[in-house]
Amino acid sequence: DPIVSVGGAWCSYGDFLAVRNVSFAVPRGSIHALLGTNGAGKTTLLETIQGFRAPAHGRIEVFGLDPARERARVAARTGTMLQESGLVDEMTVAGQLALWQGLSLREDRPDRVLELVGLSHRRRVPVSVLSGGERRRLDFAMALWGGPELVVLDEPTTGLDPQSRRTMWRIIRDLVSTGSAVLLTTHYLDEAQSLAETVTILDRGRVAREGSMEGVLASIPATIGFAVAATAKQLADLAARLDGDLDASPAAAGMRVDVRTARLQEDVGRVIDWAGGCGLALDGLRCSPASLEEVFLDVAEAVDAERTSA
Ligand code: ATP
Repeated sequence: DPIVSVGGAWCSYGDFLAVRNVSFAVPRGSIHALLGTNGAGKTTLLETIQGFRAPAHGRIEVFGLDPARERARVAARTGTMLQESGLVDEMTVAGQLALWQGLSLREDRPDRVLELVGLSHRRRVPVSVLSGGERRRLDFAMALWGGPELVVLDEPTTGLDPQSRRTMWRIIRDLVSTGSAVLLTTHYLDEAQSLAETVTILDRGRVAREGSMEGVLASIPATIGFAVAATAKQLADLAARLDGDLDASPAAAGMRVDVRTARLQEDVGRVIDWAGGCGLALDGLRCSPASLEEVFLDVAEAVDAERTSA
């Protein structure tokens, strides 16, 4: 059974529909990324999943429970890192965690979580003197407290330096390898692509793309790139053989060629056959599936085009 199951959920603020007919599931031991432009409905959905409000329509279950009705039972098994931290500035880092130890229903030790997030050396300083990234790491330590079965992370790495981001990714992966599920929102698409097995991209409350990361990446063309000393006639011959679109521009030694294709495997074969047949060398040959950023921009451009034509 999935840890989180969302089926046809709608969420509203008065008459305004912030989330419209969204469905996805997060199985144990997996990471799901919930993505979308500003105001797409990610935080609304995360808050509803944590039981802060009930959906207007549809079904949301966490651990098989209705989170709005059984918030305490869901919270006991969930670690949360919100966009706004609830830290108490006057307390020391260790004091903050001692307070958390008293409040949490899960067992853990402040030293363990501080070590995990690399904040042991800051345990005696007041929270008020922590840098923005250190505050984020303390938030993360509290979300990890007691190894929760579900961790909800709302833009966890905003404000972190690249090394701290990588450390957080490693900790998230370690946690998932022990069977926990992670539900993540982020505006760093490389982060989502690197971490998540499944993804939902929201656009103004609706699902724009969803499914496995590979499937979502395959929803827009991949690129085959190389440099080649070919004649215009040879390139025209290649273009005629391919499924994808060929774009060629002059480069230092011949032509720089990019092929955008939805049929990567077939077109790579055709490029190699063509080069072999012509006796040409393909310099710097690379095949790359679309990045999540390209998919996201594709969604955003479709939204802009829709707005312009409306
Ligand atoms: P961001 O990436 O900027 O954090 P988001 O995807 O998390 O955005 P939400 O915060 O869920 O988006 O907001 C979704 C929509 O609901 C937005 O249009 C927002 O203005 C609206 N909204 C959010 N909270 C409220 C509220 N309390 N009352 C009325 N409208 C709200």
